[in-house]
Amino acid sequence: MQQILEAILNDAPGDELAALPLPESYRAVVVRKDEQDMFEGMASTDKDPRQSLHVQEIALPELAPDEAVVAVMASSINFNTVWSSIFEPLSTFGFLTRLGRESYWGKRHDQDFHAVGSDASGVVLRVGSAVRRWKPGDKVVVHCNHVDDQDPSSHNDSMLGDNQRIWGFETNYGGLAELTIVKANQLMPKPAHLTWEESSVNALCNSTSYRMLVSPNAAPMTQGDAVLIWGATGGLGGYACQYVLNGGGTPVGVVSSPDKVDLLHDLGVEHVIDRREAGYRFWSDEHTQDESEWRRLGKDIRSMIGRDVDIVFEHPGRQTFGASVFVAARGGTIVTCAATSGFMIEFDNRHLWMKLKQIVSSHFANYAEAWAANQLICEGKVQPILSAVYPMEQTGEAAYQVHKNLHEGKIGVLCLAPSEGLGIEDPEFRAKVGEDRITLFRRHGA
Ligand code: NAP
Repeated sequence: MQQILEAILNDAPGDELAALPLPESYRAVVVRKDEQDMFEGMASTDKDPRQSLHVQEIALPELAPDEAVVAVMASSINFNTVWSSIFEPLSTFGFLTRLGRESYWGKRHDQDFHAVGSDASGVVLRVGSAVRRWKPGDKVVVHCNHVDDQDPSSHNDSMLGDNQRIWGFETNYGGLAELTIVKANQLMPKPAHLTWEESSVNALCNSTSYRMLVSPNAAPMTQGDAVLIWGATGGLGGYACQYVLNGGGTPVGVVSSPDKVDLLHDLGVEHVIDRREAGYRFWSDEHTQDESEWRRLGKDIRSMIGRDVDIVFEHPGRQTFGASVFVAARGGTIVTCAATSGFMIEFDNRHLWMKLKQIVSSHFANYAEAWAANQLICEGKVQPILSAVYPMEQTGEAAYQVHKNLHEGKIGVLCLAPSEGLGIEDPEFRAKVGEDRITLFRRHGA
């Protein structure tokens, strides 16, 4: 592995990288099957990723013809790694077993470890015999949509594929590792002006927010739309704010601390609600929602922008969904991709149908959407929201920060990269985009 790393750091040409032997095993962040019941009976908030995420040596599997081996320089924490690490809502080993039943190549994934992680930046080391567009030496980022391209249902919008999966969550050999095995159709060019860690944090959350707010497949906003964004400095929200600003809309960001309010103002979001300071209690007890509190949120929004929001960017789920449906404008859209605080959702349907609102679901992004979202990063029109960086050995701590909502934006993880700041190939373009804009979240996180 050292030889591979040195070659990458010396910018060795692709044929030189291709000639280096691949190791038989590599270090990866895993959860273990024999520990999947370790938190049984505990409250979610008490389940600790630092106990369940381990760095261990795993065997490099055989490469399928449509795959690539990528040397991972950096990766990131996504909330799905938190879910894997607390074995909620399900242990991910069930996903691997099902994938294992599908084919000879699927069987490789069904192991007693699950190498997790759904983001990566790095360098292609090998490609399978059917790969045409990528070669050893290519600097890449990886998106997490794992699709079976021989399945007809994948060919309109691949997110509709019957066996669409999220790499590193519903498949093994994910990105929090020294190496990863990915399908060639998960590869995208690395933004030349960004470091490895800045490049590694975008694909999953940026593509998801792109589909939710830009693609016609979800709730494409248009100039002048007002958009309420929950968790506006979080992984999804930090990109969502940029899309609304870029698209000529008015974001209303919801966050939970004065620091995060400042960060949003620096990002250019004028209208921000500190939900902790406001003290909304949408649920008066575990079973009862309080409409007067939804109304209070609606009034707060109107007092800032003078009207209701056209779109609500939803992901907290049970805690906020009733309020989200209520505050959307007549004819407005609630676009949802998650349910962090609980997936059994309740809302007052009268507010939905009488005011002709709609709920639109969204999940990650197809290759075209992920590519378009990555292109915006490459062109400096959307900035990475990296706020902190951890070494791979401390992935458990990094996931803990996200689980406990102690972070802002995205947390990067150095895998093979020996330090921060490496991997910039186009410093002139970086200067043109502006160091301040690129590192805004990092400076706040410092
Ligand atoms: P994140 O970085 O943790 O950000 C989420 C933010 O939501 C938090 O920072 C928090 O912000 C806010 N929040 C959390 N609980 C809340 C509550 N009860 N009420 C109001 N706000 C709350 O996570 P993320 O990466 O943005 O992901 C968010 C969710 O989306 C996760 O469940 C994740 O699994 C899911 N997700 C789904 C997809 C998909 O493709 N379907 C893709 C990415 C993520 P404040 O405390 O500042 O308000």
